[in-house]
Amino acid sequence: MAEQALLPLYPQLTALGTPAPTASPSRENNDVEYVPLAIGSVLNRCLNPRLPFRWTINPYRGCELACTYCYARYTHRFFELTRWQDFERRIFFKRRAASRLERELRRRDLRRQPIAIGTATDPYQPAEIHYRVTRSLLEVFASVESLELSITTKSPLILRDLDLLTTLDRVHSVTAQVTITTLDPGLARRIEQRAPSPQARLRTVRTLAAAGISTTVFCMPLMPGINNDEDSLAPLFAAARDAGADDVVASPLFLRPAARDRFLPWLRSEFPALEGLYRSLYGRQDYLPTVQRDRLMAHFRHLRLLYGFPRRRAARG
Ligand code: SF4
Repeated sequence: MAEQALLPLYPQLTALGTPAPTASPSRENNDVEYVPLAIGSVLNRCLNPRLPFRWTINPYRGCELACTYCYARYTHRFFELTRWQDFERRIFFKRRAASRLERELRRRDLRRQPIAIGTATDPYQPAEIHYRVTRSLLEVFASVESLELSITTKSPLILRDLDLLTTLDRVHSVTAQVTITTLDPGLARRIEQRAPSPQARLRTVRTLAAAGISTTVFCMPLMPGINNDEDSLAPLFAAARDAGADDVVASPLFLRPAARDRFLPWLRSEFPALEGLYRSLYGRQDYLPTVQRDRLMAHFRHLRLLYGFPRRRAARG
C-alpha cells in the first residue's frame, strides 16, 4: 500500500512530508514529539511462562494511538514521564535498531523461540510512516530462517509491508494479530482515540488473510459493561470470520496504576454509570477478580466456538 494512501488515517501527520532519517534530532508535529532513543539491544527476553512468546520487540516507546486503557503507559514512568499525556505525545523511536538486531541474531540461535513484535506499543503507529523502524527489523529477519514471528497492531500500515511479510512467511512462521475491541466506530473513537477505525482494521485482516498470512483478531481488552456483552462480541466474531481470521483471542482489562490514572477519569466522564462497578472490580487489584474473570472468559470461549474458531488454515477453501 502506498504510504500516501495511509496518511488520511493519520491526519495529524499529513504535514510532515518525506520520511525523516532515523538519526534526525527530535521533531514535533502538532502536539506530538518524536525523540530518538539509543538502545543496547532490540530483543527483550520474556520470562513469564504463561505468555506464548520468549522474546519481545517494541520498536517504539509510547504510542500515539492513545487508547484509554493502554496497559503500557507505565513504561514512560521509567523516563520519569508521569503525565498520561506524555505516553501519547512524546514518542521514542529506537535508533539503529536494525544493526542491533543483526548483531543479536548473529550471537543467538532463536529458532523455535517465539518472537512477538508489538507487545507493549504499536509497531505500526504513525511514527512508523516516517521512521520505518519496524520495517527495518523485518528486513533483518528476512536474512535468517525458521523463526516464529508474531506482530500485533491496530493499523493498516502493516499492509505497506505485505510484500515483506509474505516473503518472511516462506522461511518463518508469521502471524499477524490485529486488535479490534468493538465494531462500533463511535465507541472505538471514544476508547481508542487516535486509532484507525474498526472497519479499517477489518479490511486489514481481510487483506492479510487473503495474502495467506495467518491472522488472529485480538478482542482485547474486554471491559465489563463496555464491550464484553454478546451484542458486541457476536457481530465482531462474525465479521472476523468473514474477513478470514484464523482465530479470536481475548483477555480482560488490566489496570496497572499508570493505566488507571488515565482510564478511571475517562470512565467517569464517558461512562459515569459504570464508575462504581469498576471501583468495586478494580479497587484492590490490577486484574479482574477471578470469579468475574472466569465467567467472562467462559462466555468468550463459548462464543468463539459458536463462530467456528479456531479455524485451520489448511481446511479453508
Ligand atoms: S495501540 Fe496498543 S500500544 Fe498503542 S495506545 Fe493502543 S493499546 Fe497502547
